[in-house]
Amino acid sequence: MDVLEELRVFREKDIPYSRVLSSMCTIPHELAVKAHQLFIGTNLGDPGIFPGTVELERKLVAMIGELLHHKECVGYICSGGTEANIQGIRSARNVMRRKEPNIVIPKTAHFSFEKICDILCVEVRRANVDEDYKVDLAEVEKLVDDRTVAIVGIAGTTELGQIDPIVELSRLAEERNIPLHIDAAFGGFVIPFMDDPYPFDFANKGVSSITIDPHKMGMATIPAGGILFREESFLRALEVETPYLTSKMQFTLTGTRPGTGVASAYAVLKGLGFKGMKEIVKRCLRNTRILMEEMSLMGFEPVIEPVMNVVAFKTERAEEIKHELYRRRWVISTIREPKAIRFVVMSHVTEEVIKNFMSEFRKVVQWK
Ligand SMILES: *Cc1c(COP(=O)(O)O)cnc(C)c1O
Repeated sequence: MDVLEELRVFREKDIPYSRVLSSMCTIPHELAVKAHQLFIGTNLGDPGIFPGTVELERKLVAMIGELLHHKECVGYICSGGTEANIQGIRSARNVMRRKEPNIVIPKTAHFSFEKICDILCVEVRRANVDEDYKVDLAEVEKLVDDRTVAIVGIAGTTELGQIDPIVELSRLAEERNIPLHIDAAFGGFVIPFMDDPYPFDFANKGVSSITIDPHKMGMATIPAGGILFREESFLRALEVETPYLTSKMQFTLTGTRPGTGVASAYAVLKGLGFKGMKEIVKRCLRNTRILMEEMSLMGFEPVIEPVMNVVAFKTERAEEIKHELYRRRWVISTIREPKAIRFVVMSHVTEEVIKNFMSEFRKVVQWK
């Protein structure tokens, strides 16, 4: 067998996105695919060899900065939300220089903060959330002390798509002079394109860094995450010397890193423009509504009224339903608290996909 044919056999074992209602990733936009192909082989880890790709990354960072109300921000395109969160906290830790440092995060934070705690040797303090699954401000205030090097707020929680009270967190962060890191890995490319967007970004003076992932709602090719800082000093706090490269210093976590994420993210944002992105988000929100209506007809209740294109429905049978669907090659996910099945309505989750899914879902729910 020809090697490419062998590869095809493996690839065909993967589940197509048309049967995936659980992922925050999606089929890359066709502009992203073309851009990716043009930049295959680029390595931003050795910038002197790729000055064009470096320039493009700067343009993209400014473009995302503008979207987040701070065009002069600095940062880079990394491997994803996990690396972006690590770098956001690492820089705050290095800037603050506290003995036995701690960070205060919402209980609903992404599991990447478990890794952060382990890698960066910072204590992670988890603040409770209120009945809407937003972080409780009084709890955050209680947990902050003079060794706190960062407060974290989430704009689009992974499980429910909820947004923390970032305006109030920012005020607290300013008062106490502590950096505020916003994890908008998912929501960063949703909220700005909604009608009446919640102010989650650099418009809040206390926000010092933001995680925002092009490879989720930005429809870029994987890997493409983003970490942006309000101030240059936060980027400098990450630098190490690079003796044998074309650059003297490096602030990234990985060494060799692809320019494909930069090119594909730029292609989508520039190609679609603000208006095009708004249309995509509008369609995802409309399809979330359609899914909501179908599910309520069956008697399912959402954990919270969906804020964006993520929605979870309470059921004691969550695990069982997920497993039976997977056996039939449909992928959804679950959350543990409260027990619920969870859906992410990405752009590949069209009305047609929802229709096909619901017909299988009805069978699974009735099948005891
Ligand atoms: C997806 C996600 C992450 C992690 O991003 P990866 O790209 O998977 O590393 C972090 N935070 C939030 C809120 C996310 O939704």
